[in-house]
Amino acid sequence: MKNTWSLATTPHVVNDKSVAISEQGEASGRVGLFGGTFDPVHFGHLRPAVELAEAYDLDTLYLLPNHKPVHRGPTHASTARRIAMLQLAIEATPKLAIDAREALRDKPSYTFDTLSEIRGEKPAATLLFFMGLDAFAKYDTWHHWEEILALANLVVVNRPSAQHSDFSAKLLARQRESAGEVITNGHCGVIEQCDVTQLEISATDIRRRIAKNLSLRFLLPAPVSEYIGVHSLYKARHSSE
Ligand code: ATP
Repeated sequence: MKNTWSLATTPHVVNDKSVAISEQGEASGRVGLFGGTFDPVHFGHLRPAVELAEAYDLDTLYLLPNHKPVHRGPTHASTARRIAMLQLAIEATPKLAIDAREALRDKPSYTFDTLSEIRGEKPAATLLFFMGLDAFAKYDTWHHWEEILALANLVVVNRPSAQHSDFSAKLLARQRESAGEVITNGHCGVIEQCDVTQLEISATDIRRRIAKNLSLRFLLPAPVSEYIGVHSLYKARHSSE
């Protein structure tokens, strides 16, 4: 498989399940992508991901870990560690996979570049890019944000305590006028909002709990919690291990 990146080739091997790159099928179907730092991945990412894959009838929803995020400081855990945790989190979960292509590009992880690449590989696919409302509220700071709408549809996921900004509310209204309200196959530029089970969990809070030696139970999958413990992740600030 082109671009396959397997953790089996890194020192951070946790199992032998290789990381899927979004190339399986879906040539003209719906491809779901959920970007983030996943530093670490938690149930606030995973439960919505499962619900979105079902709600949008996706064969697969790809979690897309940033390598060099551009809207924030450097990650706390390395890309290999974050992908290893994602693998542990989604093991044996139908419909979820990891697209590690940003890890293969040693440059800032612009969503525009990623979606352009995927669009090139699957010209006939309907691309759905998922993001939390907190991220969408700042969407005007994204590189080539208008051009992204010519490549993909956006699905904005409600998140506890997150609210629209002036910009995001206006953009949603504008796109409803111009592109419609419902994502239809073969089109892009639609922005839909989707309600998912609300879980007030954030990676920031998890890292804070680790620093204070507090329990992580029921915030993220147990194998991820064990991995964090075994590798002493998030103990030091900006360790990038
Ligand atoms: P941090 O606290 O480090 O900022 P985070 O928990 O927000 O991290 P990210 O990896 O930055 O996680 O988020 C990836 C995507 O998942 C973003 O679009 C974000 O809005 C969304 N997301 C994260 N947590 C939740 C949640 N609890 N509910 C809904 N969406 C979420």
